[in-house]
Amino acid sequence: MTVLYAGLFTIGLIALSIFAQVMIERSARNSATDELATSASVYDRLWQERERSLAGAADVVARDFGFRSAVASNDNGTIESSLESLRTRAGVPHALLVTNEGAVIGDAGKMGSGLTGIVGGLQSDRRDAVVAVGNRVYRIVTAPIMAPNEIGRIVFAVPLDASEMRGLEKLFAIPLTAEILTRTRTGAWSNGRLTLPADIGPAVTNITTPAGPSFAIVRPLAAPNGAAQAALVLRYPMARAMQSYRSIQLGLVVAGLAWLVMIVIGTGRLASGIARPIAALDDAARRLEQGDRYEVPIESQDEVGRLALSFNRMSLGIKQREQRISHLAFHDGLTDLPNRVFFQQSLDQAVARGRRLHEQVGVLCLDLDGFKSINDTFGHPVGDALLRHVAQRLLQIADGAMVARLGGDEFAIIVPEAGDLCRSRRLAQAIVDIFSQPLQAEDQTIATGSSIGISMYPADGRDAATLLKNADLALYRAKQDGRGKFRFFEQSLDEAARKRRQIETDLRVAIHNGQLQLAFQPIVTSQGEIIKGFEALLRWPHPERGMIPPVEFIPVAEETGLIIQVGEWVMHEACRVAATWPEHVRVAVNVSPLQFRAQGFGSIVLQALSASGLAPNRLEIEITESVFLEGETGVLQILHMLRALGVRVALDDFGTGYSSLSYLRSFPFDKIKIDRSFVTNVASDVSAAAIVKAIVDLATALSMETTAEGVEDESQYAQLQAHGCSTLQGYLFSRPIDAMAAAHMLASNKIARAA
Ligand code: C2E
Ligand code: MG
Ligand code: MG
Repeated sequence: MTVLYAGLFTIGLIALSIFAQVMIERSARNSATDELATSASVYDRLWQERERSLAGAADVVARDFGFRSAVASNDNGTIESSLESLRTRAGVPHALLVTNEGAVIGDAGKMGSGLTGIVGGLQSDRRDAVVAVGNRVYRIVTAPIMAPNEIGRIVFAVPLDASEMRGLEKLFAIPLTAEILTRTRTGAWSNGRLTLPADIGPAVTNITTPAGPSFAIVRPLAAPNGAAQAALVLRYPMARAMQSYRSIQLGLVVAGLAWLVMIVIGTGRLASGIARPIAALDDAARRLEQGDRYEVPIESQDEVGRLALSFNRMSLGIKQREQRISHLAFHDGLTDLPNRVFFQQSLDQAVARGRRLHEQVGVLCLDLDGFKSINDTFGHPVGDALLRHVAQRLLQIADGAMVARLGGDEFAIIVPEAGDLCRSRRLAQAIVDIFSQPLQAEDQTIATGSSIGISMYPADGRDAATLLKNADLALYRAKQDGRGKFRFFEQSLDEAARKRRQIETDLRVAIHNGQLQLAFQPIVTSQGEIIKGFEALLRWPHPERGMIPPVEFIPVAEETGLIIQVGEWVMHEACRVAATWPEHVRVAVNVSPLQFRAQGFGSIVLQALSASGLAPNRLEIEITESVFLEGETGVLQILHMLRALGVRVALDDFGTGYSSLSYLRSFPFDKIKIDRSFVTNVASDVSAAAIVKAIVDLATALSMETTAEGVEDESQYAQLQAHGCSTLQGYLFSRPIDAMAAAHMLASNKIARAA
């Protein structure tokens, strides 16, 4: 910037100087010309003045009677003394008399002989002329002597020599140089030192002399014959003319230089005032690009200062947003706990540390029991509040250990054992204890519970992924063992998990390819073995592994939620098949708790009924008491809704749960299915027989039907009959058969009894 501005300014200054110089020269020339012209006219007047005074003085003598007499009488002595006194009085170097005869009296010897001819050549009326004699130039002024005719002339001769010139120069106001030039043979004017062209005009001209350029004006001096033989040159050296402007020029140069210095300093400071902060901004912007924020100092209140302020604000905003984004990337939005990604990274670090320090690291995986149904029952806002609450409790209890939310209701904790091997166990126990108490969320008291799986570094895995997977398997195991428990990982869990995963993948394929089938097992009256209905049972003929029993794949379908899809198909298929049967024959469909509590179950039943055209009272839904595990409220609602539709409801596997009897009070089931475990022993075990009898009596008292499951032999049959069990189901009457066989069985009304 400095260079640019100084350069531009210097160019401007040079242009200005050139302009000033031109103007000064022009002005100098004008004033020199004027002064020279003035001087020339002064000279002209002086010249005439001199002529008049000389001519006047000569005239006085020429008219003097005594002098004329002396001339007439050739009295040379008188003439000479008169001339001498005239010369002194007029102040001229030479005064002489030239007679008509050509005689020269007085001073002749000094002026030389050439003079006579010249004087003779003077025209009568020209009394003033300049003649060149040899290399000398004279001004000649004459006065005729009349007696009464002209007899001669008085001649004054003034040599126009150096001293005359110096005298002339003194008369001018300006320092002029006066010089006399004579004609050369070529016609040019010259005096040996200076030569001018012949055609030089009367105006002021520029000439070049050995002493340098000058302004000059030339006055040709008339010779006796009228033509000029000599000329006067008035010269004014240009240097002298410019002298008075020197101070202006000097002043301009000094002022220009001072100005230049000021400009350089000023632009330097201005440039540094702008350029330095901008360079700082540039630097800060570059650093910001590399993710490093730094505050630009604000040094002024001007635009640059405001720019720096805005930049600082902007970079702060960027930094904060960046932090927010990275926080969001590593934290869970709902609970603000670290998320899965963050957890895995932290676990990696914890494992690395454990390896270094030879310490164990515990990984706790926990989830809330029945969270899905809490969400379904109370709605998502309550579910979210519960999760936040749980997160808070976990943080309080974890004692500085890292707590993360892996997703859904799944949380995980990293427990660095740091020498204390029981820390994981104690923490797990504390968590289980805390969550066994009902929790408060959004004004709702919610009974939940938590199950925890624990894996340990290095025994159960040497990297984060394995540890987490194994803790998850242990969690699964804990849930299977009943809720509200914690379990450590064991190697066998891994094998079971692998199998389960295989089933899951294959089951998805089976659903997609429609490989699932339904089998139907007849339910007959204990009196007369009349077919009252069939229970629909799922069958999965696996293309490679053969028939897979429901006990193997139904739990997997329940865990993965696939049961909802499968159950919907079962409902439709069972109704479709049953609709082809005689009107008194019912179909019983098993419904898993998950499917039962899922939203839209009621409409699935309705759709199945309306699509098949099956009368609602021919459909019987079998549920187990486990549907009540997560609270009765929602379940009873659905049961009443089904009842309102006219659908029958049976309580399956009765007697295997813990509190079956209490459920009998809460809902008027249509039927109780006595679990096979009692039926198997009914003939051999007195207590089993007593239980069966008690159940049948209870059901009769509550006007519920009973079905005994798993009747395999005649003795069981006889016992059940004796105890008053209304219907029976078991291999003794028929194994589950396909739809076609069931149709045949109904058509023939014959049960293919096992022998
Ligand atoms: P469940 O509802 O108690 O069904 C009765 C089970 O006892 C059936 O086994 C049946 O084949 C078997 N069974 C019947 N009579 C005898 C017998 O005399 N001796 C023996 N040893 N067993 C007998 P299955 O078909 O293997 O079904 C097992 C369980 O799978 C069912 O128990 C039921 O809980 C579930 N299940 C079957 N199909 C479905 C379904 O479509 N949906 C749901 N959610 N669960 C189903
Ligand atoms: Mg059943
Ligand atoms: Mg059963």
